[in-house]
Amino acid sequence: MGPCAEIICVGDELLTGDTIDTNSAEIGRFLRLRGIAARRAVSVADATSAIAGALAQAGEADLCVVTGGLGPTRDDLTAAALARAAGVDRVRSPVALAAVEAALARRGRGLDPIQLRQAEIPAGAEVIANPRGIAPGFALEIDGRLVIALPGVPEEVRAMLAGDVGALLERRFGALARVRARRILRCFGLREAEVAARVEPVVDALRGDGPELDPLVIHYRAAGPEVDLTLDVEGIPAAAADRLERRLRAALGDACYAVGEVELSARIAAILIAHGLTLGTAESCTGGRVAAAMTANAGVSACFHGAVVAYDNAIKAAVLGIPMAVIEGHGAVSEPVARGMAAGVRAALAGHADIGVGITGIAGPGGGSDAKPVGTVDIAVDDGEASRYRRFHFRGDRPTIQRQATQWALWMVFHRLRERGLSSVSVVD
Ligand code: ATP
Repeated sequence: MGPCAEIICVGDELLTGDTIDTNSAEIGRFLRLRGIAARRAVSVADATSAIAGALAQAGEADLCVVTGGLGPTRDDLTAAALARAAGVDRVRSPVALAAVEAALARRGRGLDPIQLRQAEIPAGAEVIANPRGIAPGFALEIDGRLVIALPGVPEEVRAMLAGDVGALLERRFGALARVRARRILRCFGLREAEVAARVEPVVDALRGDGPELDPLVIHYRAAGPEVDLTLDVEGIPAAAADRLERRLRAALGDACYAVGEVELSARIAAILIAHGLTLGTAESCTGGRVAAAMTANAGVSACFHGAVVAYDNAIKAAVLGIPMAVIEGHGAVSEPVARGMAAGVRAALAGHADIGVGITGIAGPGGGSDAKPVGTVDIAVDDGEASRYRRFHFRGDRPTIQRQATQWALWMVFHRLRERGLSSVSVVD
C-alpha cells in the first residue's frame, strides 16, 4: 500500500460558509495522481489548539498538508501551531525573509514589520517557494511524518503544488511522487450508469485474456451531461493500455469527444481554429455563459470574436433581427426564436461568426407555464448551410439549468462540426 495523507484547511471563513474549501479537492487530486491517498480532509478554526488538535488526530498519515493561516495578521497562526507541535521555536528564516523581500520588491513595496512575520517559520523547516504570493510555505517533520504548510489562496496553493511540493514529494516518497499513468476519456450525453454499462463488458473481456489489466483502476466522475472516465493504467504495459483505450472508445462511440484533460469548449476552439472558422453566440437564459466558456481558453480570439446577450425581446428584435411578430406569436422560448437567434447573430456579427448558436429558455424559478415549464430551453446552431434545433427539459435550480443549457449548446456546436466532418483534429493534452 502506498503512502497516505491528511489535509487540514485552516480558516474561520471555511466554517462560517463565507469561503468554500476548494483546496482540499485540489490537493487530494494532486496527491492521488502521484499515488498518495488522501484519507481525511478537515477544516479547522483559526486557533492554535484547533490546528494542533487536527494534527494530533492524523493517525497513520505519512503526510499532512496544511493550508491557510500563513499570512501576516494576528489570526494567522499556522506557523506558531506547527512549531509548538514540533517542539521547536519559531525563528526568522533568512531564506524565507529573502523570499518575502523579493515578493514585495516585485510589487514595488518595501518590507514592513508586519510582513516580517511571514518569514518566521518553525526552526529547521524547509522553505517552499510561493511564486504567486508573498508568504512562503514550509515543510518539517512532526512525529515522524512530513508536514507541508501552504498559504490559503487557491491560486498560490496550485502554483506551489506544481513547483516545490512535487519535488519534495518525489524526494520523500520516491517514484510514487510522479504522476501516475492514466487516460481520461471525456464523454457527453450518457448517464454515468450508461457509460459503465458500455465500459464494464469491454474491461471484463480484456481481463479474461490474462493478468495484464489486473492493476487497472477505473474512476467515473459525472457533472451534468458530462462523464469523465479515468483509467489508472499505472503498471499496465503500454500496448495493453492502448488496446483498452481503443476498445473503450469504440464502445463509447460518438459520446467520447476527447482523450485527456481537455474541455469541450477547448476541443471546439481547436477545431474552429484548424479550419479557419469563427463562432458567435446569441444567449438569453444563459446570459453569456457559452461565450464565457469559449473565452476561458487562451488563444480563442482566433475563432471567437463576439457575442450578443439578448435577454430582452427588444434586443432579440433590434440586434438579432427577429420580427416582433414571431416573438409574440410563438413566444420568446420557441423554435423560430432559437433558430432566428442563431442565424441573427451571424448577420449581426457579419464576418465574425461563421457559426451562430442561439439559446432561449426558462431558467426559473418563475416564468414557467404548463406548456413551457421551468427548464424548457431551445437551442439552435446555424452555419449558413444548415440550422439544427433541439428542445430540452432540464431539471434543477436556476444555476443548474443555466449550466446544462451551456453544456448542451457547446455540444450542439461540436455535433454540427462533426456532421461537417471537421472534428477529427486531435487535441494535445
Ligand atoms: P494571506 O493571509 O496572506 O491572504 P493565508 O495563508 O493566511 O494568506 P488565509 O488568510 O487563510 O491564507 O486565506 C487567504 C484566502 O484564501 C482567503 O480569501 C480565503 O478565503 C482563501 N482560502 C483559504 N483557505 C481556503 C480553502 N481551503 N479553499 C479555498 N479558499 C481558501
